[in-house]
Amino acid sequence: MAVVVKKFGGTSVADLERIQAVAARVKRAVDAGDQVALVVSAMAGVTNQLVDYCVKISPLHDAREYDTVVATGEAVTSGLMAMALQQAGVAARSWLGWQIPIHTDDAHSRARILGIETAELRRRMAAGEVPVIAGFQGLGPDNRVTTLGRGGSDTTAVAVAAALGADRCDIYTDVDGVYTTDPRIVAKARKLDKITFEEMLEMASVGAKVLQTRSVELAMKQRVRLQVLSSFEDKPGTFVVPEEEIVEQELISGVTYSRDEAKVTLLRVADRPGVAAGIFGPLAEANINVDMIVQNVSPQGDTTDMTFTVGRADLERALSVIEAHRGEIGYGEVRADAGVCKVSVIGVGMRSHAGIASTMFRTLAEKGINIQVISTSEIKVSVLIDDAYTELAVRALHGAYGLDA
Ligand code: ADP
Ligand code: ASP
Ligand code: MG
Repeated sequence: MAVVVKKFGGTSVADLERIQAVAARVKRAVDAGDQVALVVSAMAGVTNQLVDYCVKISPLHDAREYDTVVATGEAVTSGLMAMALQQAGVAARSWLGWQIPIHTDDAHSRARILGIETAELRRRMAAGEVPVIAGFQGLGPDNRVTTLGRGGSDTTAVAVAAALGADRCDIYTDVDGVYTTDPRIVAKARKLDKITFEEMLEMASVGAKVLQTRSVELAMKQRVRLQVLSSFEDKPGTFVVPEEEIVEQELISGVTYSRDEAKVTLLRVADRPGVAAGIFGPLAEANINVDMIVQNVSPQGDTTDMTFTVGRADLERALSVIEAHRGEIGYGEVRADAGVCKVSVIGVGMRSHAGIASTMFRTLAEKGINIQVISTSEIKVSVLIDDAYTELAVRALHGAYGLDA
C-alpha cells in the first residue's frame, strides 16, 4: 500500500464536472489500495479575481487582509471536493491550513511553511479517510491565515508529502508533464520523461509556471518523489529526479520566459562606494526582490546609470521606495518599463560546455532582437528583451539548441 499525495491545480477543478472527474480518479486510487491525501487549488480564475478585488479596493493593501481574501478560493474547492468524494462513496474530509495546522512564518502573501502536524491526518488516512487539504494557505505565528505566494498549492502538496513521508507526490495539471518550453507557445516543445531537480528549480525560478519554485526546492531537500502529470489523461508524466538518475544528459533542457518582470533605471547615480547598498537596502527592507542588475562604470568617474529588474507586481512599490530615498541615494532621473520579458536557457550541460551563451546571443541577433540586460548562473543564461518579441525569441532559441520535436 502506497501513501500518495495528489495535487489538482486550478484548471483541473475549474467546474463541478471536473471536480467530479477528479473524485472518480481518486476513488480508483483508493480502491486500488493507496492511502491518498489530496491538495486542491482554487477553481481556475478565482484567485486572479480575488487578487483583483484587493488591488481595486486598496492598491497598497495590508497583506494580512489580502491573505484573508485570497485564501477563500481553496476553501471552496476543498469543501466541494470532499462532498464529491463522499458522493462517490469515498470517506473524505476537508482541511483548511489552520485546521491541520500548516504552520508558516509571518511573511503574509509569500509565507514559508515551517512545519505540518500530521498525527490526525495519518490516523484518519489509516482508517480509510481521504483528507482534502486546501492548498496555498497556512497559519502564521500571529494566529492569522497566511498564503504561500502564487502557485503555492504545489508547495503545500510537496510539504504534506514530506511530512507524511509519502511514497510519491503527484502534481496533476492541464499539461501532461514538463516540456522543453511552454507547450502553449511553442508547438514543437518536447515532453521530458525526467528532469533533474536542479534544472527544474532553475526553470521554475525563471518563469516555467508548471511548478512553484519553492515546491521544487523543498522536494529536492526532502527527497520527495515528484511527478507532474495530466489530470485529463491517464498516462505517465515527468518525474523530477536527482541528477544521478539521468543517464543521457542533454546540453540544454529548457527555454523559459517570464513576463512578470519590470525594468527600473536610475540615471546619473553617483559612482561611489555605498550607492548599491543605498538603493537595494531599502528595497530589501520593503520585501521587494531584485533580480537582474547592471551597472556601468562611468567614463569620468562621477556618475553612472543603474538598471535592475523587480517583479511587475512590485513596480509601483519599488518606485515609491526609490522616490522616498531620493535624498540618500542621489540620482538624476528614474525610468520604469513594464514592457519587458526575461528569456532564459537552462541546462546542467552548461557546466562542461562553452558556447551556450554565444549561441543565445547570435540567435537573438539574427532575429533583430535587442538584449537589454544579461545575467547568468552555473546552469542558466537569462536575457531581458522587449516583451513584444517574447514568442519569437523562445521559438528561435528552442530551435537553435536542437530542442524542436
Ligand atoms: P495549475 O493550475 O495546474 O497549477 P499552472 O497554470 O500553474 O497549472 O501550470 C501549468 C502551466 O504551466 C501549463 O498550462 C503551461 O502553459 C505552463 N508551462 C510553462 N512552462 C512549462 C513547461 N516547461 N512545461 C510544461 N508547462 C509549462
Ligand atoms: N490558487 C493559487 C494561485 O492561483 C495557488 C495555486 O493555484 O497554486 O496562485
Ligand atoms: Mg500552478
